[in-house]
Amino acid sequence: MDFTGKTVLITGGSRGIGRAAAVAFARKGARVAISFRSNKQAALETMEMLRGEGHLPIQADISRPEVVRQMVDTVVREFGRLDILVNNAGIFEAHPIDRCSYEEWQESWKRALDTNLTGAANACYCAARHMIRQGGGHIVNVSSRGAFRGEPGQPAYGASKAGMNAMGQSLAQALAPHHIFVGTVAPGFVETDMAEEVLNSDAGDAIRRQSPTGRVARPEEVAYCILFLASEQAAFTTGCILDINGASYLRT
Ligand code: NAP
Repeated sequence: MDFTGKTVLITGGSRGIGRAAAVAFARKGARVAISFRSNKQAALETMEMLRGEGHLPIQADISRPEVVRQMVDTVVREFGRLDILVNNAGIFEAHPIDRCSYEEWQESWKRALDTNLTGAANACYCAARHMIRQGGGHIVNVSSRGAFRGEPGQPAYGASKAGMNAMGQSLAQALAPHHIFVGTVAPGFVETDMAEEVLNSDAGDAIRRQSPTGRVARPEEVAYCILFLASEQAAFTTGCILDINGASYLRT
């Protein structure tokens, strides 16, 4: 895979999967913009890990529609074009239905959907306007196994990722005539900050045993699949949802 001369925007590139994707794209020649919500220190650490010149960190809370528009416009202004959007930023918050208050329930659903689903949808809209004018592009959405398997303690998260899967399929159909290709990755647990607490808890070993490999995914493994779906050669996979879960959950 070669991304020389390509420009990429990765939301949530300060840590975890987004950081691994930024490093991998830069290693393959791309110019990379990473967005982050508040952790500037982590974003600057990611920047230092990127091969090549001209990469860009952008502070942008993707749950805010106007901020998303500014984020995408900034990338296009600085880079001249946007070839690849990776909708990776996300949150995973507990709101067990049998234990949280109605107010907490409301807030959790709003936060999860505003960030994981509407934020990604707005980024797709803003990026697609530029990509249509440019004559094409690639969008990769970072979903989750939880969309299929259920998230009993984080139902809004599961629903947001199921929505993201459906959005990606619909946009693949809507945007293919514009030579814009849309892919989705659906990882199981990945070794990042998001999963750290649960992987280090008493439940950690049982989670690792969900896969016959006896482990969870590494961020670099998810990054590799993101690059694959963003590559020219994989354009005909558009609309696909790629499982990355070590055979821990098999869909037919
Ligand atoms: P992570 O380590 O917690 O990092 C989350 C990233 O998203 C950070 O860069 C964070 O920015 C950014 N972010 C969060 N809310 C944001 C907002 N409102 N606006 C802009 N940026 C925001 O998470 P991760 O594990 O790498 O997860 C990345 C994606 O993979 C998520 O969509 C997640 O749902 C998905 N996923 C993760 C796992 C897993 O087990 N880790 C499994 C399946 C799917 P700051 O650094 O500024 O906070």
